[in-house]
Amino acid sequence: MKHFDVIIIGGGHAGTEAAAASARRGARTALVTLKADAIGTMSCNPAIGGLGKGHLVREVDALDGLIGKAGDRAGIQFRLLNRKKGPAVQGPRVQADRQLYRAAIQGFLAEQESLTIIEGEVAALILQGNQAVGVELVDGVRVTSAAVVLTAGTFLNGRIHIGDVAWSAGRMGEPASRKLAAQLAEMSLATGRLKTGTPPRLDGKTIDWSVLEEQPGDEAPTFLSFMTTSAVARQVSCGITHTNSQTHDIVRANLGRSAMYGGHIDGVGPRYCPSLEDKVVRFSDKDSHQIFLEPESLSDSVIYPNGISTSLPADVQEAYVRSIKGLEGVTILQPGYAIEYDYFDPRGLTPGLETKAIGGLFFAGQINGTTGYEEAAAQGVVAGANAAALALGGAMFVPSRTTSYIGVMLDDLTTVGVTEPYRMFTSRAEFRLSIRADNADQRLTPVGHEIGLISDERWAKYSAKNSQLSGAIAALQAEKRPSRVLHDAGFAVAAHGVNRTDFDVLAFTGTTLEMMSDLSAVFRDLSDDMKAQVKTEATYAQYLDRELAEVKKLQVDESLRLPDQIDYAELRGLSAELQKKLAQHRPATVAAAKRIEGMTPSGILILIAATKDWSRFARAN
Ligand code: FAD
Repeated sequence: MKHFDVIIIGGGHAGTEAAAASARRGARTALVTLKADAIGTMSCNPAIGGLGKGHLVREVDALDGLIGKAGDRAGIQFRLLNRKKGPAVQGPRVQADRQLYRAAIQGFLAEQESLTIIEGEVAALILQGNQAVGVELVDGVRVTSAAVVLTAGTFLNGRIHIGDVAWSAGRMGEPASRKLAAQLAEMSLATGRLKTGTPPRLDGKTIDWSVLEEQPGDEAPTFLSFMTTSAVARQVSCGITHTNSQTHDIVRANLGRSAMYGGHIDGVGPRYCPSLEDKVVRFSDKDSHQIFLEPESLSDSVIYPNGISTSLPADVQEAYVRSIKGLEGVTILQPGYAIEYDYFDPRGLTPGLETKAIGGLFFAGQINGTTGYEEAAAQGVVAGANAAALALGGAMFVPSRTTSYIGVMLDDLTTVGVTEPYRMFTSRAEFRLSIRADNADQRLTPVGHEIGLISDERWAKYSAKNSQLSGAIAALQAEKRPSRVLHDAGFAVAAHGVNRTDFDVLAFTGTTLEMMSDLSAVFRDLSDDMKAQVKTEATYAQYLDRELAEVKKLQVDESLRLPDQIDYAELRGLSAELQKKLAQHRPATVAAAKRIEGMTPSGILILIAATKDWSRFARAN
């Protein structure tokens, strides 16, 4: 029988990051997945990053993960979203060639030391009491380990729906995972059903591009990875078209035939990624919605029409698609569909993503109620790093919501749970000014280095950049210039005002990078990326003090750990309702307890006291 330190089940976005992170941390790791050549498959949209999601990608990259590097290698169009808004909410996004993306991920895994890939279906977890100690494949082969990470995506009891036709599948063309789902259903884990959907795929050769608006990428690409210096793949444009009142009439007339509206689906779908049926019903006052026509690859003609996912029957899909400008003669290569699958209540997980019910069993990705490659990848790094820590005896990695979007997501999932597929938005983070996409490396690479996740190459590059950045900021803050000099150089200061440092004037709205380069030799010598980052640091410096005070308060609450052995039923002064909720969720810290619905200030005071010695505050028997 083979033995590894860590076994990862699933080669999707969570699984590949988990496997690579576990192996980077030095654990002998096996990645068991249904089809080896499907590792790194993008099940839905051919894009990585975007608003909120771009922050997660940068953070995974800062921990030396794969998604950013693979996205850049596969990038056929780079765009920085929200460019007109402040840097804190801008999101890097790439349109990724699916085949290049998959090849890049598979290439990274092939180069990774301590990692073995096993093709096969896991039929069951091997349990010893309440401890996961390995997996059994459908052919009976048993592989043992000290920790197991499950990342089965949409495959657990997956069921595809197109109109009133439904069948069991993990995603189009791949079988569902039913045996493992059956075993998990027997365990004491809270589960539910969620759903998501995808649009029909179109043949680009049959689209009339001449009548459509073209959307090119940015002239100067913003990369996902801190390691990328240039685009590799040929760059292409997307097309833009719109639904119209005829499209909506067709959808409305056939709503009863939609799997979702015809009552065939019980699972809850992502509110922020609605199907065309949802859009037509929920925004009935609108007679048009934008559609981006996104190429899926440089080597075929498949087009992903972003914005019209559906579970209507194939004939209705054809009718409504052909009612859209530029698509009148289009051929549908694969119909859109909805998929329902099992997920587990993430409140059953520790903040490090280990299940509370089964020791050594970690969950990451879509099975925790999230949606999106980026959310899955971010959980994968954490689960993989922690499974390795459990196997090898290292420190657990629990990112804080004060320092990362990954921390925000883990805290949201494990303390509040989900009622619909969870996706990241910048609005979920309280400390947006300090946890930006541009400074993800400064926030996380040193932490990753401490726990053995970072390669020497990345550490050397990061260290050089960091010392240059801090040196430049110190130099720009070192001296004040007379206001007259600044005024004459065109800066927005009064000729007889107070003297200011270069860092001060860099923060002014009207100060351009060119003006500052003319003024300061230190600034002039920086790379374009570094100039932009120094400008952002200067712009936010004035607001950061207030934010940092809030960060410190939350960090104090996070440091107040609630002992595992607390018996909440015995805590004097807590209402019966709070005792029940606390016993159910078992928050790891006072910060997590504060986020439990219905928690009161007096309840928090009792918990703070209990962190010191809970038994002193317990009711005498
Ligand atoms: P997946 O990428 O699904 O990977 C799961 C892996 O587990 C696969 O490699 C599979 O082979 C393997 N596996 C499963 N069971 C077993 C087993 N028993 N043994 C061995 N291996 C196993 N996201 C969005 O953000 N927006 C969308 O609009 C959107 N639409 C989607 C539409 C569809 C139809 C689908 C299928 C997904 C959609 N997604 C969307 C979700 C996105 O694809 C997922 O969020 C992401 O892929 C999740 O990554 P994951 O690693 O958790 O799972």
